[in-house]
Amino acid sequence: MSNTTKCLIIGSGPAGYTAAIYASRANMHPIVIEGPAPGGQLMTTTEVENFPGYPNGITGPNLIEDLRSQAQRFNADLRSGLVTSVDFSSRPYAVTVDNRDTIMADTIIIATGATARYLGLEDEQKYLGMGVSACATCDGFFYRNRTVAVVGGGDTACEEALYLASIAEKVYLIVRKSFLRASKVMQTRVFENPKIQILFNTTTEGLFGQDTLEGAHLIENVGTSKEDHFDINLDGFFLAIGHTPNTSIFGGKIDLDENGFIKTAGETTATNIPGVFAAGDVADNRYQQAVVAAGMGCRAALDAERFLLENE
Ligand code: NDP
Repeated sequence: MSNTTKCLIIGSGPAGYTAAIYASRANMHPIVIEGPAPGGQLMTTTEVENFPGYPNGITGPNLIEDLRSQAQRFNADLRSGLVTSVDFSSRPYAVTVDNRDTIMADTIIIATGATARYLGLEDEQKYLGMGVSACATCDGFFYRNRTVAVVGGGDTACEEALYLASIAEKVYLIVRKSFLRASKVMQTRVFENPKIQILFNTTTEGLFGQDTLEGAHLIENVGTSKEDHFDINLDGFFLAIGHTPNTSIFGGKIDLDENGFIKTAGETTATNIPGVFAAGDVADNRYQQAVVAAGMGCRAALDAERFLLENE
């Protein structure tokens, strides 16, 4: 088992595996470090109906299995393990896996993804996939003519509330402050949508339901003399309180934006470190879709191939 490669891919979601397919077919013999939760966020998604090529839909885990098999077909070297440190001071770059093995790589594609933020309530885990979701675009379709809530006051929450309003009967937007943080244009759209009811100054203290979600316990004006505890009935509860990019091991070693996402240059996937590229949700605070991540994985592999041609 060689520990040197022309291309090391860190991460195993749609971005990582697509990069692996392209890099393998370009004879770069990539090594893929699959990370702590191989497959990433798709592994906790039930039905994926918007990934092109699957007219009848596919489950998230099966989609990952297909991408993984396709990478293996072209002999990508898939390895389980967790990248514990990186040294970008000189090329080839040194990447340590599980605090033990060091891999020397001429180019690196970072595809470590992002993790949706949850409120931290025990009930969120209890109803995950049974009413609780952090992706309206993925799961909203299942709430046709039902009642749902979205938590958050940013652009994502507004976008998800508007998307859900086109499907569901009623949408509550649960906002902890007395105002929305979202851009004015999004705020206007939300305010003008008759299906959306905004609950300002409101936080969630719990969820309830027999087997699936049936509602939420809310508190208005928490900690004030006007504090009020009440329940709403719900079929779906969507979190839209942001994503945390999985970049902790790269802090101080690569340029990140103010939200911790890896910065890429212009239309390419190049980072500020020559030969290091980023693809998928770790570098995308805007779209956060599997098909976009796969496209970025393709671009990163092409960028890495071109980099090697120009530098060797
Ligand atoms: P943001 O960080 O902008 O907003 C997060 C929201 O969640 C805020 O309203 C915040 O409340 C709330 N929140 C955070 N933690 C909690 C909590 N524990 N309980 C309750 N509420 C909580 O994240 P977004 O994902 O909305 O947006 C990320 C970036 O992406 C932004 O820059 C946004 O503009 C951009 N974006 C742009 C889009 C577009 O242009 N079409 C679409 C989507 C995102 P509070 O305000 O009180 O902190």
